[in-house]
Amino acid sequence: MFRDTLKNILIFAILSFSSYAVTAQKVKEPKTTTEWTAPYQPFRIAGNLYYVGTYDLACYLITTPQGNILINTGLAASGEQIRNNIETLGFKFADIKILLTTQAHYDHMGAMAAIKKMTGAQLMVNEKEADVLATGGSSDYELGKYGTSFEPVKPDRLLKDGDTIRLGDMQLVMLHHPGHTKGSCSFLFTVSDEHHSYRVLIANLPTIVTETPFNNIRSYPAIAADYVYTLRAMKNISFDIWFASHASQFKLHDKHKPGDAYNPASFKDQAGYDIAIGDLQKQYENKLVSDRDSH
Ligand SMILES: [Zn+2]
Repeated sequence: MFRDTLKNILIFAILSFSSYAVTAQKVKEPKTTTEWTAPYQPFRIAGNLYYVGTYDLACYLITTPQGNILINTGLAASGEQIRNNIETLGFKFADIKILLTTQAHYDHMGAMAAIKKMTGAQLMVNEKEADVLATGGSSDYELGKYGTSFEPVKPDRLLKDGDTIRLGDMQLVMLHHPGHTKGSCSFLFTVSDEHHSYRVLIANLPTIVTETPFNNIRSYPAIAADYVYTLRAMKNISFDIWFASHASQFKLHDKHKPGDAYNPASFKDQAGYDIAIGDLQKQYENKLVSDRDSH
């Protein structure tokens, strides 16, 4: 009797461990940094828009009377921080009804599958990301070399350029900004407080992640043309305040310190945006030069 119980415990332990080992092997985040994993005090940005990400992995919560929208989820381990941040602000994690992402890389998709399971929210993504979502990143033209880097997840709705995402009184427009990934995208919407309305741009900046010459990327033949398209499109967006997928990209830590009073105007920064896009234009041109030199 006792021996049987012991045997069962042993079998259970072996099974649990092996299933853990399989899971751990299946999803492997290639790298993390302390900026990505460090916690950060959540805060109200403007109207019903809140910052709920880590120190550098930007995640945004948009609240409505009909439930909330979460944009980006950081790494797998960021899920717990995002939940704490949302609850610290006085909102319910379970009220997330829609999940969005600016790009299908593991540092924004890490906790997506888990948060979707926990909240039952609808995941809506740019249709061009659906394939990489299904493979957990292993079919990405560049990061695919690391294998499965986030838990695969099935979207509930596929979005096209210019599509509107609606919840309660909110309307977000999805802007297709490919290059960094095939379906990288930005979101444009308006939030209001008792004094002002703000046109908000959450921009996915088209940084270059590959050292392979563009012409040699067989799984993404349109990559160079996509960067040209995105850089041009991003120069022509009008907005009042702007944000990005990483806090460092829009200099969050220069604009806001933990505990600062509510001040949406601190994110009015057309000049900073123009400089960022100008730098990316240069990065693209330098890439074409180094591609040519590598022949
Ligand atoms: Zn990325």
